[in-house]
Amino acid sequence: MLHIADLQSTVLPTSPPYPVPKLVPRVVPVTKSVLPSFEEYIAEIQALWETRWLTNNGSKHQQLERSLEDYLKVENVALFTNGHLALETAIEVLGLTGEVITTPFTFASTSHALIRKGLTPVYGDIRADNYTLDATKLERLITTKTSAILPVHVYGNVCDVEAIEEIAKRYGLKVIYDAAHSFGVTVNGRGIGTYGDVSMFSFHATKVFHTIEGGALTFNDPQLKERFNRMKNFGIVGPETVKEPGGNAKMNEFQAAMGICNLRHIDELLELRGRVRASYDRRLGKVEGIRLLSPQPGVQTNHSYYPIVFTNKVNRRDEVHDMLEREGIYSRKYFYPLVTDYDWNLNRFASRRTPTAQCIADRVLTLPLYPELSEEDVARICKVVQKGVMT
Ligand SMILES: *Cc1c(COP(=O)(O)O)cnc(C)c1O
Repeated sequence: MLHIADLQSTVLPTSPPYPVPKLVPRVVPVTKSVLPSFEEYIAEIQALWETRWLTNNGSKHQQLERSLEDYLKVENVALFTNGHLALETAIEVLGLTGEVITTPFTFASTSHALIRKGLTPVYGDIRADNYTLDATKLERLITTKTSAILPVHVYGNVCDVEAIEEIAKRYGLKVIYDAAHSFGVTVNGRGIGTYGDVSMFSFHATKVFHTIEGGALTFNDPQLKERFNRMKNFGIVGPETVKEPGGNAKMNEFQAAMGICNLRHIDELLELRGRVRASYDRRLGKVEGIRLLSPQPGVQTNHSYYPIVFTNKVNRRDEVHDMLEREGIYSRKYFYPLVTDYDWNLNRFASRRTPTAQCIADRVLTLPLYPELSEEDVARICKVVQKGVMT
């Protein structure tokens, strides 16, 4: 595979009268999309030239739905062209109204889906240990207008699923999980996508498993499948029958074919990610002033992200980010800013008091993590972090 560093050394002029280039450090991106071999993908899409069935629930689409039901250990999967539209469709089909309790510590998509569907997000604080919505602070946010809870299994960390279910039952609320980070995560062998009414997975190119762009809803109630299928295809149920004003959010056959290929290699990819994570853990475990993710009992994780949180009085997060960047290493302040601090959100909603979320957002840095990240690069990254946290 061609590295950016290789390109730079071939492109930069190296002999006089041109200036001799400085040694360019090898660039380490925060993530790198995985791809099957070119041949494997071509073989997977070849039949499409004969069938000419390119989208609308084709055979690749059907095959991927079945394979994902098995792999994710869920009852039902509905594929979508991306995770965000899957989430919007879930919100529509479950008929949410008024206020929805959610977390400000997430990617833009979670809150934007609510806003775009005319709902009011109400922000709860997060737990300091795993950064998911704090279930002990949920009840006080419930009003007569609340229709649902939309928690996020952030970084693949599992939310307090039991406590959330209990509260939802008691108040008659729906629960939709944003499981965009949680592909393949299980709790005591149970698929994460079986909790709540619906879970949304993202298969975006940067996620652990991807279909270039793509996403899915998983759910226990089989009756939801028909509604999801029609809402992602203009509400059409037959050649002369349109049941409701649906949109277009279908996954096409080329996306599904990419998913079929990537799913063949997923176990190996997860193992490689696990090795990178273990290497980070070994090197950073004893460094004072940073906190790592801690394993959750019974949870099989997917090593989707490697967030570290700076705990010293003087917060060195931004300096470490910049020090890494000077070495060609790209970390991300993920998730900073909080959704409540987005331009469109400023002063808009009452419930902005989420001190733990604020503290974590100010102090978190996610380090590069992808299957082919070398031991050598992990060592290099950890050295910079260690130096940065002390000085
Ligand atoms: C990636 C992501 C999404 C959106 O998924 P897309 O497939 O990119 O539309 C939603 N929520 C979270 C937390 C994400 O990380």
